Amino acid sequence: MTPPSSVESEADDESAAQAGQPVVTADALATHLVCPRQYEFAFERPLSARKTSTDRVRDRRRQLLRRSIIAGLRSEADSDEGRVEAALEWLNHEWRQASAGDRQPYIADAQEQYDANALAAAVEAYFENGGHGHAERLVEADTVVSYERDGIRYEATVDAVVERDRGYLGIRYVPTLHGVLQVSWSDTHVREFVDGQSYYPRQIGSFVRAGVAIRGLKAEYGFDLPCDFAYVAPLAESRPAYESESGVRVDVEQRHFEDAFEEETRDLVDLIEERAAAIGDGKTDPRAWRFENITNSACQYCAYRDACPDRMGAELAFIDREPTRGERGERGEIDD
Ligand code: SF4
Repeated sequence: MTPPSSVESEADDESAAQAGQPVVTADALATHLVCPRQYEFAFERPLSARKTSTDRVRDRRRQLLRRSIIAGLRSEADSDEGRVEAALEWLNHEWRQASAGDRQPYIADAQEQYDANALAAAVEAYFENGGHGHAERLVEADTVVSYERDGIRYEATVDAVVERDRGYLGIRYVPTLHGVLQVSWSDTHVREFVDGQSYYPRQIGSFVRAGVAIRGLKAEYGFDLPCDFAYVAPLAESRPAYESESGVRVDVEQRHFEDAFEEETRDLVDLIEERAAAIGDGKTDPRAWRFENITNSACQYCAYRDACPDRMGAELAFIDREPTRGERGERGEIDD
C-alpha cells in the first residue's frame, strides 16, 4: 500500500513573502554566516552544488528520517506500535522511491542495506525515547514559524511543534549533531564569534536557526510563553549489533537551545539583524567577511568550490601561504 501523501517537502525558503515584505530565512542567515558568496550561489543564482556521495548520503538520511518521523507523528494510529508502524511504512516507501533514482550515493549494496537498517532502527529508537510523547502533544508538523522586525519577516522551518506543560518546543530532526553548537561550552558563543576570538560559523549558524525559531514560536504562540528549540538526532551514533534483528544499534541524542537563547539573546539578535541587513544590501563578497577564515576552513567543505572565483583567486594570490587544514589532510567531520 502506498502511504497517504501527508508529508510535504521541506518548506525552508519557500514561504511566500507577505505583500512584498522582505523575508529572510534561518537557512539563508546560516549560509551567509559561513560565506556570503556561498549564500549567493545557494540562494540567488541557479548554480547546482557539486555533491559528493557523502553529501548525498547525508541529505538522504535527513530527508528520509524527518519525513518518516513526521508521518509517524501525524498518524492517527491508536497505539504506540501503530504509530511506529506508520513511520516505518513511510520509510520503506520513501526508501524505495529514493532508490529508484539514477544517482545512487552508495558504492556497495551492503552499505545501502546497512543504511536502510540504521534508519529504521533510528525511527524506532526516536519513538521509544520521547517520540510518542511528542506525537501526543503535537501542535503542527513540517511548518514555518516567523516573526517580524523592522519591516523584515524572519522565518524558520521546524519539523515539529510540540506543546509542553508551559510553552512550546520546536524540533528539527537531523541524523547526527555534527555541526550543531555545543551550547554548554560557553555563555558567550556569539560574542566570541563576533569579536573574532573564535571561528565556528556552521555551529553559530545552528544557534541562529534556533534563535529565529524560538522568536517565531513566541510570536505565534505568545511572547510571555517559554519556548525552546531542539535538534533531535536519532542516528547520533550507530554501530553494527549482530545480536539485534536489524543488525544495527543506534543512540538518540538531542540538544536544546532555550537556556543559551536566554543567555545570549541580545548578541544573537544583533548578529541576526546584521546579517539580514547584509543580505538586504546585496553584500556577497566574502573578502569583506572573514575571508582568511573562509579560505582556511569553509572552502574545503563548500559544494561550490570548483566554480568559485574567490577561492580560485585566493589560491593564486597566496602561493606562499600556509596549507589549509584540508590540504594538510585534516578534513573534519561532515555536517549532518
Ligand atoms: S568556495 Fe569558499 S569562498 Fe567560494 S563560495 Fe565556497 S566557501 Fe565561499
